[in-house]
Amino acid sequence: MAIANCRRCGRLFNRVGRDICPDCVKDEDDKLATIRAYLRQHPLANIYEVANGTDVTYEEIVEFIRDGRLVLRNNPNMVYPCERCGTPTQAGRLCTNCAKEMAEELERAREGHRKTSAERQGGFYSRSDGFRPS
Ligand SMILES: [Zn+2]
Ligand SMILES: [Zn+2]
Repeated sequence: MAIANCRRCGRLFNRVGRDICPDCVKDEDDKLATIRAYLRQHPLANIYEVANGTDVTYEEIVEFIRDGRLVLRNNPNMVYPCERCGTPTQAGRLCTNCAKEMAEELERAREGHRKTSAERQGGFYSRSDGFRPS
């Protein structure tokens, strides 16, 4: 049993798995249901239109999509800007291009790290080779 502050409303609650309290879970579920119902009737709506047509804010809708809780299939206009380059995207924080580039950068950083630690080790070995106490 763990007591935690709800990430959303800040109230203390008995944390089971999510980092938000049961009231907020229910509130979010209600909002998700509202968004889905609105999108069924207006499949071509964009996020602003959904926010205007429901009691859910633009930021909340984007967060639902980023978290993967609101999955868009036939809603081509439900796009928000990529956090890195601003390209319209429909899932996650980054567009597919940036996600790919970030993965490659991460890979390069890992490679670089591996190389320097190998060099450091090489240096250590040659030093201990040169050091021969008699
Ligand atoms: Zn809460
Ligand atoms: Zn991008």
